[in-house]
Amino acid sequence: PEKVMNKLVSLAKRRGFIFPSSEIYGGLSSCFDYGPLGSEMKKNIKDLWWTSMTRKHQNIVGIDASIMMNPTVWEASGHVSSFNDPMIDDKTTKRRYRADHLIENHIEKLRRDGKTDEAQRISSSYEQAADAEDSNKAFYDIIIAEEIKAPDTGSSDWTEVRQFNLMFKCNMGALADSAGSVYLRPETAQGIFVNFHNVRESNRMKVPFGIAQIGKAFRNEIVKGNFIFRMVEFEQMEMQYFVKPGTQKETFEAWREERFNWYKERLGLTPGKLHWYKHDKLAHYADLAYDIKFEFPFGIEEIEGIHSRTDFDLKQHQEFSGKNMEYIDQATNERYIPYVVETSAGADRLFLALLCDAYTEDVIDGEERVMMKFSPTIAPVKAAVLPLMKKGEMGEKASKFRNDLAEQFLVQYDDAGSIGKRYRRQDEIGTPFCFTVDHQTLEDDTVTVRYRDTAEQQRMEMSKVPEFLAAEIV
Ligand code: ATP
Repeated sequence: PEKVMNKLVSLAKRRGFIFPSSEIYGGLSSCFDYGPLGSEMKKNIKDLWWTSMTRKHQNIVGIDASIMMNPTVWEASGHVSSFNDPMIDDKTTKRRYRADHLIENHIEKLRRDGKTDEAQRISSSYEQAADAEDSNKAFYDIIIAEEIKAPDTGSSDWTEVRQFNLMFKCNMGALADSAGSVYLRPETAQGIFVNFHNVRESNRMKVPFGIAQIGKAFRNEIVKGNFIFRMVEFEQMEMQYFVKPGTQKETFEAWREERFNWYKERLGLTPGKLHWYKHDKLAHYADLAYDIKFEFPFGIEEIEGIHSRTDFDLKQHQEFSGKNMEYIDQATNERYIPYVVETSAGADRLFLALLCDAYTEDVIDGEERVMMKFSPTIAPVKAAVLPLMKKGEMGEKASKFRNDLAEQFLVQYDDAGSIGKRYRRQDEIGTPFCFTVDHQTLEDDTVTVRYRDTAEQQRMEMSKVPEFLAAEIV
């Protein structure tokens, strides 16, 4: 698995999907830049999500809120006081670990080894510890009592457990005192909650309705790694759906089904690699929570969370802002603070899942190749135009063909090297179709289309190509 990740990281850099951030200065931990192909592909992911979540639903609209907000927002939401991770350091290596993850992994290992009773025993003390007044101390006690070791060194020389707040604080304006402090948002959701009435009134929305948003979020993650899986700056695609209290359960189930199907049928991830995970330990705001997980080469990990957030956020904002957050049902005159069901996905994690899922090594025409098996909808480059000869009438015809297609699609033009080499270059970036312009094209205005996955070829009228591509990119 590590080998696959290494190959992916190197392909991503070599072909311009993802670069380390500020690389010429040695980079910055957990920060990455999307290159020419990466930024196109990420845009395709976001467009697909946006279309599925807003335009296809009459009662969901989108917003684009600012990253910095009035700091009281984060007091109301609970992020200032409790958006913390419990950390513990290995004294010998100074490496830092999440205390809760160490315990969870230990329990999982016991279960795998068939020691279910022991796992159960630790699991119940872990649950108590999470709810304890001093959960830091309780986590520490479990780690010491169970002799849990550092995964990298096997050492068990631990520091105490401390809480780290995940929010980035910065100064606004000239004053460096706390009055000028603002946070970079750790989730996009709060921008939606504070705009509840603005969106409702301006767009005459009636409960149930949803507000969707795509935007950057920032978390001062201590434990990093696995390429773009966990970054300090990342992009979320969130939708908050406001419902009448009491109906959250059925709404939750409906969204659970819709989102799982989206991954299978629209984003096109391999269905067998998608899994559900039900949260037993719920966040302070939730009454029900499931994650959709994907089988990455480094493990089965979360790509989207679906949370029933109750009326926690709107209630908190009502209390902290002093503004009424109630909804009045015009038909029945009922008043209530709506409940919220949210779907929250990470654009970067979906990008990584697609990279991992697409990576294929096979043999075609007797030659080994690397192919990214992206769906035409997700693939950054939709087609390549390859003239058999660079110059003369053939080159001109191919250029014009490319330019016409470029009005609608991202198309590459490549006239350098053997045709086989050019196919390989396109296979490696996942271009689903190559169109070859040859001698026959000059006579009858047909081109050959070569399919990436099978390398099969077929003649097609040039004039039919735009229609063909549009049908493939759904
Ligand atoms: P994790 O347990 O992996 O830290 P989380 O449960 O804290 O994630 P949420 O707060 O539910 O994550 O955020 C929703 C989505 O945002 C996640 O499913 C993930 O796709 C994405 N996400 C969260 N944190 C990061 C990060 N540090 N880097 C990239 N994506 C992230």
